[in-house]
Amino acid sequence: MVNRVFSPGSDYARMAESLFDELRAMSADVAGVSRPSYGEMETQVLAHLERVANSAGLASAYDGAGNLWMGAAGDTTGGERRIVSGSHADSVPRGGNFDGLAGIVAAILCAVRATRDAERPRLPVAALGLRGEESAWFGKAYLGSAALLGQLTEADLARGHRSTREPLSDYMRRAGVDPARCLGGKPMIDLSGVAAFLELHIEQGPMLEEAGRAVGVVTGIRGNFRYRQVRCIGEAGHSGTVPKRLRRDAVFAVSDLLSRIEEAWEEWLAAGEDLVVTSGMVHTNPDQDAPSIIAGEVGFSLEVRSQSMATLERFHRSILEECASLEQSRGVRFEFGERIDSPSAVMDSALSARMAKICRRREIPFIIMPSGAGHDAALFSNAGVPSGMVFVRNAFGSHNPQESMSIEDFLLAADVLYDCMLSI
Ligand SMILES: [Zn+2]
Repeated sequence: MVNRVFSPGSDYARMAESLFDELRAMSADVAGVSRPSYGEMETQVLAHLERVANSAGLASAYDGAGNLWMGAAGDTTGGERRIVSGSHADSVPRGGNFDGLAGIVAAILCAVRATRDAERPRLPVAALGLRGEESAWFGKAYLGSAALLGQLTEADLARGHRSTREPLSDYMRRAGVDPARCLGGKPMIDLSGVAAFLELHIEQGPMLEEAGRAVGVVTGIRGNFRYRQVRCIGEAGHSGTVPKRLRRDAVFAVSDLLSRIEEAWEEWLAAGEDLVVTSGMVHTNPDQDAPSIIAGEVGFSLEVRSQSMATLERFHRSILEECASLEQSRGVRFEFGERIDSPSAVMDSALSARMAKICRRREIPFIIMPSGAGHDAALFSNAGVPSGMVFVRNAFGSHNPQESMSIEDFLLAADVLYDCMLSI
C-alpha cells in the first residue's frame, strides 16, 4: 500500500472524528440531526467548523450568500487562482450526520494539510461550507451555491419554509445575508480563478455497499424535474349508487396514470435510457374521503431523474400525453402546479480519470459510477468550473438517521481528494 495521506489514528483522523461527533451532538434531533437551510443550526454548524479551521491555522471569510470559505490565503473568497473543495452544511429534517458534512470536513483536512506539508498542491486550497443544499426546507435544492453563482431569482427568495411558510429572504436576513445581494445575476466570485471544484460526499445509494468497494469516482450527476403537488380532479359520489360508466374516479385515474408511467419507464430502461421515477406522496383529501365515497380528488408528487436533460424532456412530454388521454377516457382533470428543475451535470473527465488512477495506485477498492442524487458540484460544473466528485461507501441509505460511514473509508476518500489536488 502506498503511504497514506490521512492515516487512521493521525491528528487529522482525530480532528475529523471529533468534528463529526461534536456536530452530531450539536444538531441532534429526536432522531438523527436537523440542520435547516439558512436556519440557526446551519449557522452554528458553520461557526463551529470555522473555529476549528481557525485554530488549525486557516483564515476564514463568508461570501455574500453566507457560505463559509476557509484557507491559507487572507481573503479566501478573493481572486487568487485556487482549488475549491467543499459541500453543504445543512441536512434534511432528522437526517444523517455525514450527508454534506463529510465533504466540508474532508476539505478542511486538505486545506490544513496544504499549509503544513512539504509536498503540497501547486495552487492554494480553499475549503467551502455551503448553505441550503437540501430541497426539503424551501422546496428547491442548491440555494447556497446558486446564490454564490448568481443564479438565485426573486421567486426563489419568496419560497416559503416547509413549516413556518416564512420566505427564504427572511431566513437569509436572520443568517446575516442581504438577500438583495444574492440577485446580482452574476457569480459573486471570479470563476476563472477556480481551477477546480472537488466534492467528497457519502454515496446516498447502495452501489458501493453492494460492490464491496470503499470509494466511488463520479462521472455525472442526474438532473430532475419535480412536481410537489399534482391534483387529479374528478367527481365525488356515493360508492353504491353511481354506475361505472358515469364515474369520474380520481383514485382509479391516478393509479392508471402511475401504472402507465411505470410501464413506460420499464420500456425506456430497456431502450438504454437513464431514468428513475418516483411518486413519493399520494393522498386523497382527508376532509372528504371515506370508504363509501368515490374520490373526487387525489394529490400526488411526481419526480423524474436522468443524466440526460433530453431524456427528461421527452419523458415529461410522454407523461403529459398520458394525462391528456386519461382526461378524455376518465373525465378527470390534472392540474400540475409549479415545476421545479434541477440540471444534470457531467464531471470533468480528466479529473475523474485522475481520481481513478489515484485509486489504482493506492490500491483503494473503487468503482466508477454516476450519481443518482443531486450535489452542489452539478452547479459548479454547469457554470464552467472543471468539477470532480468522490463518493464514500455508506450503509443504510441517506436522508435518514441510520446512514453509516466508517472513518476508515472516509480517510481513504480524503486521500484521493488530496492526491487529486496535488495533481492539479
Ligand atoms: Zn448531500
